[in-house]
Amino acid sequence: MKRQLAVFILTSCLGLSILGCSTQEQVPLSTNSGANTPETATPTAEQPITTTPPPATPTNAPDEPGFQLTKYVIDVELNYDAHSAVVDQRITYVNNSNSELEDLLFLIEPNSYPNGFLLNAITWENDNPIQDYSLNGRELRLVLPQSLEPESTVGITLSFQLNLPNQNAPYGYTERQTNLGDWYPYLPPYIPGEGWLVREDAFLGEHLAYEMSEFEVEIKLTNPYSANGGELVLAASSIPEREGDSYQYHHSPARNFAWTVSDQYLEQETQVGAVLVKSYAFPFHPQAEAPALEETAKALSIFSELFEPYPHKALSVVEADFLDGMEYDGLVFLSHAFYDYYTGDPQSNLTIIAAHEVAHQWWYGLVGNDQAREPWLDEALSTFSEIFFYERAYPEFVDWWWENRIYFHDPQGWVDSTIYEAAGFYPYRDAVYLRGALFLSDLRNLLGEEVFIAFLRDYLAEYRYRQATGDDFFNLLSAYASEADLSALINSYFSHRSG
Ligand SMILES: [Zn+2]
Repeated sequence: MKRQLAVFILTSCLGLSILGCSTQEQVPLSTNSGANTPETATPTAEQPITTTPPPATPTNAPDEPGFQLTKYVIDVELNYDAHSAVVDQRITYVNNSNSELEDLLFLIEPNSYPNGFLLNAITWENDNPIQDYSLNGRELRLVLPQSLEPESTVGITLSFQLNLPNQNAPYGYTERQTNLGDWYPYLPPYIPGEGWLVREDAFLGEHLAYEMSEFEVEIKLTNPYSANGGELVLAASSIPEREGDSYQYHHSPARNFAWTVSDQYLEQETQVGAVLVKSYAFPFHPQAEAPALEETAKALSIFSELFEPYPHKALSVVEADFLDGMEYDGLVFLSHAFYDYYTGDPQSNLTIIAAHEVAHQWWYGLVGNDQAREPWLDEALSTFSEIFFYERAYPEFVDWWWENRIYFHDPQGWVDSTIYEAAGFYPYRDAVYLRGALFLSDLRNLLGEEVFIAFLRDYLAEYRYRQATGDDFFNLLSAYASEADLSALINSYFSHRSG
């Protein structure tokens, strides 16, 4: 027991650590490099926007017939040893909001780093250069020469170079791994009445939100071997077709596309129904390699049955050279610390966090949310999903899970805290993850098991591929519980809403 608690100290972003989220801690303050920011902007003369006639019946989610996703076609060549990549990216943006748009906003996380993003060219789909744009920090804003009607499309091409930062994080390189999470310019969801969903970085938690999109990514490696002579292995959000030295991926509909390369990965795979689960681990801890794959596969199987089937054909679980777990759509990272300390006992962070990250494929991947302002929507649900996992996979350790994961920390704080309100990583984790799990446990007791699960499935069905808010969650919940009962729960756990 003591040993398990000691292990907790080494881990982080998944709600376990004292170190905070390394991703956030190591992101430098966004400053505009200047070189990429034209101060004068001239409206373009051309009319580059292709307006597609709206379908007779408006649609608003990718699971509805006729819905068109924004498409990212990305060709990238990575120079592993130089820690840089040359990228051509074509975006066919579909205005799936109900508002006319006057401008487009791309978020470019790599431009948070000095010299991290060098823009070579930006053009409309007819190859005319785009002149009316500004790049400030991670925001690239371009003015449309004419408004973009709902359900209309516009094409943009970007050519750029990435220089990866040297950091132990989901974006960056270390001696044994290069990670590309949130690596390409993308358009966040557009919220009618509010605008582009952009949130400031907060040094803890996550701050990005994603619209479901289609990804076609072609990756080439400048050299298939690293300078050390090791063969480079790629892991990504989906499984590639190989054509010579080119890896071609299709991932859709999905929130994002992440990938990672190392000259040290050991690969293993297993099948869960129609889903291929692949694991990539460093060769330092043979006792943990197979269990990382097995626990991930087990969680995928349990949640697919309990919630609804996992939506992709593959899931990759990758050992991270940073002290965190991190979720992407179709790919999850698990900290090397979880592997290092794994002794074969499922009372471990490797098992807990494998379940947690896999749960994010539903609570983040399928149902999106504003991770900065309402992180509880994905984090409380993913933390609570750990208990669903233990109840089915290791029922003998359910009490251990409650004691170690929740009660030991005596969690305080409001479940609906934002990433900006917390006094540090621990208070944030305690409020959002741990009291979030307590709230969901009380809700489960209130509704009863059958109704609780029916509610979660209904929530998934209602908001699958969309962005959900706390209001959406509670509006739907009001059909499952009396106002008086909910009111008491809300008052004990939530500060921003009255019960
Ligand atoms: Zn999480």
